[in-house]
Amino acid sequence: MSALKQRIDSLLIEPGCATNQAKSDKARKEGCKKPLTPGAAAGGCAFDGAKIALQPVVDVAHLVHGPIACEGNSWDSRHVYSSGAQTYRTGFTTDMAEFDVIYGGEKRLYRAIKEIIDKVNPPAIFVYQTCLPAMIGDDVEGVCRAASAKFGTPVIPVNAPGFAGSKNLGNKLGGEALLDHVVGTLEPEYTTACDINLIGEYNVVGELWQVKPLFDALGIRVLASFCGDARYRDIAGSHRAKAAIMLCSQALINIARKMQERYDIPFFEGSFYGIADMSDCLRKISALLVTKGAPADLPARAEALIAREEARAWARLEKYRARLAGKRVLLFTGGVKSWSVVSALQEVGMEIVGTSMRKSTQGDRAKVVEIMGTDAHMFDELPPREMYRMLKESQADVMLSGGRSQFVALKAKTPWVEINQERHHAYTGYDGVVNLVAEIDKALHNPIWSQVRQPAPWEQPEGWGAA
Ligand code: SF4
Repeated sequence: MSALKQRIDSLLIEPGCATNQAKSDKARKEGCKKPLTPGAAAGGCAFDGAKIALQPVVDVAHLVHGPIACEGNSWDSRHVYSSGAQTYRTGFTTDMAEFDVIYGGEKRLYRAIKEIIDKVNPPAIFVYQTCLPAMIGDDVEGVCRAASAKFGTPVIPVNAPGFAGSKNLGNKLGGEALLDHVVGTLEPEYTTACDINLIGEYNVVGELWQVKPLFDALGIRVLASFCGDARYRDIAGSHRAKAAIMLCSQALINIARKMQERYDIPFFEGSFYGIADMSDCLRKISALLVTKGAPADLPARAEALIAREEARAWARLEKYRARLAGKRVLLFTGGVKSWSVVSALQEVGMEIVGTSMRKSTQGDRAKVVEIMGTDAHMFDELPPREMYRMLKESQADVMLSGGRSQFVALKAKTPWVEINQERHHAYTGYDGVVNLVAEIDKALHNPIWSQVRQPAPWEQPEGWGAA
């Protein structure tokens, strides 16, 4: 059995995954046997998933070993921000073509690594395997090893060719590359009793920066973020953290679980979306850190900060209450947002007519039931036709979803707010709730809706507009 196959099999029976835990022993052994669609890059392939998870490491060069289309498909697909280095935004690729299929692409890869070191000299290079070199048998790991030894720069193989599976599997394979080759390879310059890791936070449109000041205010240091606005050194020294918060259970559960096993770093799953969830995170991490030697007054200081920040957020939300109370929302997202955004919107009196549970775990489902008091509004899939019908019949006043569904809403002449990874506004933390509510308010009360809902001139009754 190939190393990649073994790795995939082990990820598909990940013991930390809530979905796996809920299965019978027999079903768990069988793993997640989702039929794979090789080359289905439109929905995201495993390579795409690995790139999404790792590209936010901002100071390394991300080199895609494959045809240029793979790089084109994945470059900058999320609005992840950097507070400094911009190396991550350059698209490096070996641009494999027909001759490489015949003669192999290993020399080409080695030359590309050398060129990057000569011209950019990053602290490390991440080399992404794609379908083509995997199928012709390029030894990417061997080339990375040889180049690391020759040039003295860590060259990290990321073995997640697109055909290996889904984007989500690719996220985890990207995490495995960090666990195998990066985590624990360097020591942090110093450590504190309040060092934490954030796992599954990608700093999309700067969301990490809305939360980090809260930790700073408590003296909690984010030692490493996996991988939003991360530096190679931070990830390499992340094994010295005292605790961790896992923010997306679907993507990098393997990192959280294995770091707990290997380095005794306890973790919990939290969310930075919504006032109550943000406060919950601050409470839990403070309590967890105290068990690992942090000052005993940390929870009390966290409570004082929570009280101050919650009061400030509520005061800022007050002006939206009257405008949004009773407005009906159709939420078409997934994962942790399926429940954390629900509670955020309920906080300003909005009514949730439906929330999708795509990519959500059993834990996510339980939380929706807990927050909404019923599972009647949960749905796994909502075909575009049904979504259109709901919006057209005004069962919802606004839809929150990813960009792919926006045209259904626009066709139904219904306000729409981008909430998934292509979003342009940061929704985390106390300020994020205010941002989200402000965006919903802007969308709902935009005068364009009353105009587009007017009948078109050729649909007007006869004599309309006559003097
Ligand atoms: S890795 Fe494979 S599936 Fe993914 S974009 Fe490249 S060719 Fe397509």
